[in-house]
Amino acid sequence: MTTQLLKNFVAGRWQAGTGAGTPLFDAVLGTELVRVDATGLDLAEAFRFAREAGGATLRALTYKQRAAMLAQAVKVLQANRDAYYDIATANSGTVKNDTAVDVDGGIFTLGTYAKLGDGLGDVHHLTDGDAARLGKDPLFQSQHVQVPTRGVALFINAFNFASWGLWEKAAPALLSGVPVIVKPATSTAWLTQRMVKDVVDAGIFPAGALSIICGSSAGLLDQLQPFDVVSFTGSADTAAVIRSHPAVVQRSVRVNIEADSVNSALLLPSTSAEDTQAALDLLVKEVAREMTVKSGQKCTAIRRVFVPEALYDAAAAAISARLAKTTVGNPRNEAVRMGALVSRTQLAAVREGLAQLKAHTDVLHDGAQATFIDADPAVACCIAPTLLGTRNPDGTSIVHDVEVFGPVATLMPYRDVPHALALIRRGQGSLVASLYGTDPAALSAAALELADSHGRVHVISPDVAALHTGHGNVMPQSLHGGPGRAGGGEELGGLKALNFYHRRSAIQASTAVLGNL
Ligand code: NAP
Repeated sequence: MTTQLLKNFVAGRWQAGTGAGTPLFDAVLGTELVRVDATGLDLAEAFRFAREAGGATLRALTYKQRAAMLAQAVKVLQANRDAYYDIATANSGTVKNDTAVDVDGGIFTLGTYAKLGDGLGDVHHLTDGDAARLGKDPLFQSQHVQVPTRGVALFINAFNFASWGLWEKAAPALLSGVPVIVKPATSTAWLTQRMVKDVVDAGIFPAGALSIICGSSAGLLDQLQPFDVVSFTGSADTAAVIRSHPAVVQRSVRVNIEADSVNSALLLPSTSAEDTQAALDLLVKEVAREMTVKSGQKCTAIRRVFVPEALYDAAAAAISARLAKTTVGNPRNEAVRMGALVSRTQLAAVREGLAQLKAHTDVLHDGAQATFIDADPAVACCIAPTLLGTRNPDGTSIVHDVEVFGPVATLMPYRDVPHALALIRRGQGSLVASLYGTDPAALSAAALELADSHGRVHVISPDVAALHTGHGNVMPQSLHGGPGRAGGGEELGGLKALNFYHRRSAIQASTAVLGNL
């Protein structure tokens, strides 16, 4: 039986590709679900329509009016939530709790920007700081303003967050008055397409404001013009292709890159046995959770775990004990706690990365011994969590370099805090590091030490054990991104996310003129 070919929404019309399509599969059953195809689309028309029709109508609205549209979109998405869960269960192989991170996390982020945008009021531009005198006479001053860029925001997204990855970018873009064209990763494009379809069919946004292209990325970057922006999430290799594209190099197209990251968790030393145990318990719980949520397919997941030398064996035993309780298999079975990877391609990539790391580490908890619930290992994209370890973190560079995008982490001992910080920095810049300890002064000192090489430092002490939002959870209030190999991008962080979609200009004029801005 031929499965449904999902349509693209460009130039204000639902359009099917003219090719046979690329099939998307059930991550556990291996059955074909739908197909996607972008062959034959008139990309020039798609970008022109978004830029001209979508951009002009969006910019004519105020921030408050656009925020109201985001709020309406939240309602539409909430009403269709069950369908999104069904799609994610099949196509991404995620259990309900993991689907929530993607689906509900995306809707929550959209809702957060609806509220933030409402507070900006009925204005068409934003003033940026105070006016500054340009000379002795205060009559002539300079005022910076932020105005929406007159281009398109092209999003090229990764497979692991089909919902959140769309809305965390679309919310600030649409609130800014910038039309969006999203190209989801092919393997999990169905959920993104369905969410866009529901919002488009509800007629919330003006024509051209929200477009989706499913399938090949061929030709997309060639359409970019100087005032367009690109937000990319994916591998460092594809990021390099985008950075070197003529649109970026010659037309100064603004680019935001979120790439791979070898994130860390650091247990700081404590003075008393009681404090040591309390902090170790927090670390163990978070590491096991981070390794298994979405089967470790989170760009923010903990990949490296650093503990004082004396605690290496205790940490290894405690993390392994937790991982041993993680049931793996078909997410439709209530007994399963961790579902599958998204595809056999990813399964092969994780196995390959694991083999690379295993050649330089000890296996502390072996996922290869696990059996799956309701899942055929020959078909399902399931893999159980594996904890690796090395007592020689200085001599093993691969553990600081290779990101295995699955349920895999490496435990390492350190001598003293400067040694731990130096080891963490060998990740060359990461999205997030988490710190565990009981001494507020030591925690804040380490957080500041790591701030230059991490977009976020998540500090877990016993007083916030029940409150903190999780090492890997990206909250819209906080910056998401990281320097160096993490891509150098910056997303979210409340209203600061709007900067990417605006152009900043200094208006130099008399105070009478500036008073009208
Ligand atoms: P990928 O191969 O780079 O794909 C990412 C996106 O780029 C997909 O939509 C892909 O389309 C598209 N693409 C592929 N080749 C392209 C090209 N030549 N020009 C333009 N677009 C192109 O990455 P992946 O392996 O799917 O994603 C996993 C990686 O993403 C991991 O390394 C992870 O660390 C990273 N990630 C980072 C974050 C973050 O926020 N920093 C979040 C999630 C994931 P197709 O699917 O059609 O090939």
